[in-house]
Amino acid sequence: MALSDLRREMVLSAIEEYDKLGRDAFLETYGYGPARGYFLLYDGKRYDSKAIVGVAHRDVDGWPLRAEDFSGGNATVARALRDLGFEVTRPGDIIEGHSLESLLEKILTLKTAASATPGAQKRHQPLTLLWALGGAARGYDRLVPWRDASPALESLLREFGHAGDGLHAEFPVLRLYHHGLWDLPGRNDVPRASGSAAQRWMRQNQPLSGLRSWVHDLVTDHPAVRAQIVLRLLDEYVRDVDRDELLTATRLAPEPNAIPPAQGEATPLPDGTPTPSRRTVTTNRVIRDSALAEQVKLVHNHQCQICGIRLTTRRGPYAEGAHIRPLGTPHNGPDEPGNLLCLCPNHHVLFDGGTITINDELVAIDVPTRQPITPIQLADGHTPDPRHVAYHRHVSEHSQSTGAAQVTKDC
Ligand SMILES: [Zn+2]
Repeated sequence: MALSDLRREMVLSAIEEYDKLGRDAFLETYGYGPARGYFLLYDGKRYDSKAIVGVAHRDVDGWPLRAEDFSGGNATVARALRDLGFEVTRPGDIIEGHSLESLLEKILTLKTAASATPGAQKRHQPLTLLWALGGAARGYDRLVPWRDASPALESLLREFGHAGDGLHAEFPVLRLYHHGLWDLPGRNDVPRASGSAAQRWMRQNQPLSGLRSWVHDLVTDHPAVRAQIVLRLLDEYVRDVDRDELLTATRLAPEPNAIPPAQGEATPLPDGTPTPSRRTVTTNRVIRDSALAEQVKLVHNHQCQICGIRLTTRRGPYAEGAHIRPLGTPHNGPDEPGNLLCLCPNHHVLFDGGTITINDELVAIDVPTRQPITPIQLADGHTPDPRHVAYHRHVSEHSQSTGAAQVTKDC
């Protein structure tokens, strides 16, 4: 089963049948649920993308795919359809005439100058954006006076920029302005982002500045979109830094009071009334995740990638960041987005214990019986790295055959 075998005419034939049956009958006939975020746009109409792809696939194998045979979403279904020249919408697509697509496009085409460090690019703009995203995450004002922004940005550049690249925060702000991501409201004499004249202009004017309002609204109203952009910035521009330190410095780590209590600081549930027999229940398995894992959980809206459950507690939604290839020895997995999953506590335990693993089609597998369970849920901007997935599968299957009790103690 490979979605790359699909041809455009197969998709068109599925669309034709969808039109003939109507949406409800089409979905029911083939056992698909309604699409949540991704719709195929064709001839001015919207179609549930996963169902269309599954039905179109009958012309490859002779029978349609079942919903549980493959994952929907951007990395699979939407990509296959786009490769065939179709248009596919994504969640939260159009905001005030600007799309998430156009924001990502801008983020991924920053014109970064060569660094003093050979082979590297300067990090001024990505760091400035991360700082602004952190402000949005905390609900701070979009526009910040230059006397406040400047020292904050300089300290970030000092800590996370390449040595020798300079600490002038004026240049990234002006570059981002001309790139369409930054706002200097009320200014129509904004200079080019170079030379002493640019620095003088910022010093003399002390402008208010910040993300463009459409960008600010997008990343404030949609934490998953914000997290997706954070992960892309880290991935594209600032790979070799301590991500937790950077996320903390840019205010993207959870605020201290939002972190659940660590193990041992158990929180008793409040007594119910009336209580037939008094009893204290405590939670004693709370994972304190890295700031990076928090971003991954946001991208997934705290939904477990295996069962889709989103636990809601009095402190807010709860999920756990599970490393696919464990961090500690002997596994030595990296703390990077492609090595993380967002799981509920139950599936975290089963995954770490090697009872559940994932195959190359990103379907969760029950290791003892080798039966597929369900395609894991994917989200834009976060795809598990196939190398780490293969590693987990290898270790899980090996431990199954040797009867080892547990593969990975380390989350
Ligand atoms: Zn789960």
